[in-house]
Amino acid sequence: MGVCLIKNIPITDNHIHVDPFNGEGPLKVAQKFINSGGKRMIIPNKPSWTIDGFIFDFKKTMDLCVQVANEINDKLDVQAYAVVGIHPAELSKLLSYGNDFETAKNLIKDGLDYAQHLVLENKAIAIGEIGRPHYPVSDDEWELHNELLLYALELAKEADCPVQLHTESALEEQFKEFANMAKSVHISTYKIIKHFSGPLTDFNENHGLTPSLISTRDVLRDGLKKNNLFLMETDYMDDLTRPGAVLGPKTVPRRTFEFLEKEILSVEDAYQIHDFTVKKVYDI
Ligand SMILES: [Zn+2]
Repeated sequence: MGVCLIKNIPITDNHIHVDPFNGEGPLKVAQKFINSGGKRMIIPNKPSWTIDGFIFDFKKTMDLCVQVANEINDKLDVQAYAVVGIHPAELSKLLSYGNDFETAKNLIKDGLDYAQHLVLENKAIAIGEIGRPHYPVSDDEWELHNELLLYALELAKEADCPVQLHTESALEEQFKEFANMAKSVHISTYKIIKHFSGPLTDFNENHGLTPSLISTRDVLRDGLKKNNLFLMETDYMDDLTRPGAVLGPKTVPRRTFEFLEKEILSVEDAYQIHDFTVKKVYDI
């Protein structure tokens, strides 16, 4: 019975990219995930400029993400879900290409509207990754990022869907700020997922946001010391020119089984992370 319970854990990578142009591609990445015991892949689109001919074509970039998730679902025994949005670095890039603030803002708002449209059509399950840059920018640009972040939260509230946040490295202070933003648009804080999170698993640290822990041994171990209310992810990029830049596609299943074996993780913890929290946050 124990073995069966372990085999049926719906192991979920909450943030894994696939790239049919610059990477191994959706089917190969998904197959590696499956072979190591993975069951569910939550796939956000990559930034538009990472694909030749896609730069600033946000709709095309998001459509591609929906398409690769569908391809995985059709051909392989794993559940793939698209998450669509506009990476905060798109704004910096738009500005660096000479667009003024107003133009850049409108382009991104249009793109975010399209992301919401895909969610409403059930082609994607969340809006993301959106948020703030992880590098320093001018005060004016920072303000615009915040404005667009709030705009995306409002769209998510309307569509009743979660949001995956990409931000500067976030500590308690930032989690609190994002929780307050969520409250200001009346979206539940647990629907705000902090992608690439450190081990801020205590409510007093994350203020009710859902942290998606980057699945290194240290981060997971530290996170589990406090509680099991979090998601796991790799942020795998699927970029052949950057091998080993991040954790590989097998990491979440492997780490889960390793920690179960070492009894750092209980079967109950594993179900909480991969099943109950995933279902609660995404409503799937
Ligand atoms: Zn990402």
